Amino acid sequence: MRAEYIRTKAAQLIAETACRDPFEAACLTGAQVAFKDLGSLKGAYFPAFKTPVIAVNQSLDDNTKKIVCAHELGHHILHSRTAQSCRELRFDSKAGILEREANIFAAAFLIDYDKALSLLKDGYTVDQTAAILETSTQLLEFLLSLGGIVQAPCGSFLK
Ligand SMILES: [Zn+2]
Repeated sequence: MRAEYIRTKAAQLIAETACRDPFEAACLTGAQVAFKDLGSLKGAYFPAFKTPVIAVNQSLDDNTKKIVCAHELGHHILHSRTAQSCRELRFDSKAGILEREANIFAAAFLIDYDKALSLLKDGYTVDQTAAILETSTQLLEFLLSLGGIVQAPCGSFLK
């Protein structure tokens, strides 16, 4: 799956649901979001249930919950037919193909790319831009790397 295709899917969902709220968008696309005690897992996606379930670890902070939900939403939109279930320990930029695709979806869904570019052009750093857009620096760097703006961040998205 090409990054451009995934970004188009994210843009379509934003247009259809008129929001960048992954919890609301998940419900509107037929998935149920559940906040659970998942131990060391950040989140999970179970497509085989009658109603597909996106589970988010209830102990995460609000911003991380949003990123995890958007990542699982990516699996729901892109992989509901191919994946058995997804259990996330961490989100790595060098993880497998399905994980990378879900990360691309999450970044494109949560972050207004044009707004990010405009803030960077105005002289804000990547850290400052991420803070203004209420997202993580790593996720923003990942999105920018898709456009060739910065090098892909190494290591884990969410520790
Ligand atoms: Zn995943």
